[in-house]
Amino acid sequence: MRKLSALSLFLLVASFAFAQHDDFSKVQIKVTKISGSVYMLEGAGGNIGASVGEDGIVVVDDQYAPLAEKIEAALKGITDKPVRFVINTHYHEDHTGGNAFFQQQAPIIAQDNVRKRLENGGTAGNLGSVQFDAKAQPKAALPIITFDHDVTVHLNGEDIRALHFPSGHTDGDSVIFFPKSNVVHMGDDFVTYGFPFIDLGGGGSVDGMISALETIVPKLPADVKVIPGHGPVSNLDDVRRFITMLRETREAVDKGIKQGKTLDQLKQEKVLEPWKKWSGDFISSDAFIETLFNDLTGKKTGEFIKHN
Ligand SMILES: [Zn+2]
Repeated sequence: MRKLSALSLFLLVASFAFAQHDDFSKVQIKVTKISGSVYMLEGAGGNIGASVGEDGIVVVDDQYAPLAEKIEAALKGITDKPVRFVINTHYHEDHTGGNAFFQQQAPIIAQDNVRKRLENGGTAGNLGSVQFDAKAQPKAALPIITFDHDVTVHLNGEDIRALHFPSGHTDGDSVIFFPKSNVVHMGDDFVTYGFPFIDLGGGGSVDGMISALETIVPKLPADVKVIPGHGPVSNLDDVRRFITMLRETREAVDKGIKQGKTLDQLKQEKVLEPWKKWSGDFISSDAFIETLFNDLTGKKTGEFIKHN
């Protein structure tokens, strides 16, 4: 019975993903100028950042494969200059699906673990009810330039910096900062859809996500424009509220664990009730309790890929 309910939950998640896939033909790409030379493109999947200038285009993330030609057309609507590089913030399909298409035009850059996870595939999720099949990707989709800690792309008069933070949303996350334009793309270490998806199967952790955000926020200009992995353009106060929620919910679940409570008890007691406005269609309160519980009790399967 337990197995059956786990299976039906998985099918529910899978069918949600398939439903999205069916709708790709209807997706339109919306282009917004954020600041300086940086644009944001929204379609389906993660937000795309683009530095557009005299040297060409540096793209951050490329959504799903079926949208690649529409994304290309949207970029051509901004400039006739070529794409020079694509940077992946992490390995998930809704941020890397266009890799094989765009790598015919320009090299893909990503942190070492992004390439490893794209190459090997695996199961993304919270080691419970949230699961996604991450298929092993062909060579054409793998970043041909990888880095360990950080890399800088000097184009369009900008020192575009990709900075890796270990074990947050995944174990290959990068935050991309455009200092001249004063814009930062946070990848999925910051999202606005409510409780975040933390990919424990992909080496993520709540403590890593908190640590990444607490490290990066004081380094950024106070008025920096924040492109979240998903959702509308935000500011650092939005990020700070998100960090506070992560800290408080982590503590609430940790307290229950230390009192010897089970996952089911924590759900029945609705321990995240004070933060229920963060409960979303993707990650509900129960799914986030489960994420924090599995993370903090070390249900991890040792899949975290270490780097030097
Ligand atoms: Zn993601």
